[in-house]
Amino acid sequence: MATALITGSARGIGAAIALRLAKDGYDIALNDISEKSFEDNDIVEKIKATGVECEVFICDVSNFEQVEKTVKDVKERFGSIDVLVNNAGITRDGLLARMSEEQYDTVIAVNQKSVFNMCRFAGAVMMRQKSGRIINLASVAGLYGNPGQMNYSATKAAIIGMTKTVAKELGSRGITCNAVAPGFIKTPMTDKLTDEQKAAMLNQIAMKRFGEVDDIAGVVSFLASKDAAYVTGQVIEISGGIMM
Ligand code: NAP
Repeated sequence: MATALITGSARGIGAAIALRLAKDGYDIALNDISEKSFEDNDIVEKIKATGVECEVFICDVSNFEQVEKTVKDVKERFGSIDVLVNNAGITRDGLLARMSEEQYDTVIAVNQKSVFNMCRFAGAVMMRQKSGRIINLASVAGLYGNPGQMNYSATKAAIIGMTKTVAKELGSRGITCNAVAPGFIKTPMTDKLTDEQKAAMLNQIAMKRFGEVDDIAGVVSFLASKDAAYVTGQVIEISGGIMM
């Protein structure tokens, strides 16, 4: 049985991706920053109900040593890591003039360094396997910028460069690396926005609706599938048409 490791998967987009990959037949390694993240949801039960194996691996993905241990633990538990989805991400929004150093550094560590950490260790497992799929969560903020998100958009633009570099470095080992760039998706992360911000965003979307978490999970499922075997180094925007 093939295994998928999804970071930040207790809730939101990560949980939807994990459930979708479970339905596709992968054993699932869930990850989040604390046991508490899993307390108010039933993602583990939902995944087990699909008939696959599922286990939770707690770690802070911004921490190099913790990620090294987690990847080792997942490999020991499941025998392989076939799909890695770098989904964990946070926002600490604020206009440039008021953004603190702490706001900037925290977002860089969680959103960007985590992708290095995970690709570094899970990538090594995949190189030995001579196969693997890495899918990174970028954002339209990384493609076009977004006021109040200098920290966040920096990480999401960086993830696009990292995706292409990993694709080039690991392609000859049968490993693909792609990114998806969601627009405005209804999750706890976007619940924090004001009604005014939400109305302004809706106005820019060609499809005149916000995205659902399953809109992202479906594209990730495709990128993990055999049909996407020759797709690498790409960024797929999933935004209902924000910019074309
Ligand atoms: P979310 O609902 O806030 O979920 C993110 C998850 O990541 C949470 O379960 C969170 O745990 C976990 N997490 C945070 N820091 C972590 C760490 N250091 N180590 C491990 N796990 C950590 O976010 P989402 O909306 O589903 O977003 C998922 C991804 O999609 C992110 O990379 C985000 O940037 C990207 N994205 C989202 C949108 C959108 O509209 N929602 C748009 C574009 C891109 P706790 O909650 O327990 O802290």
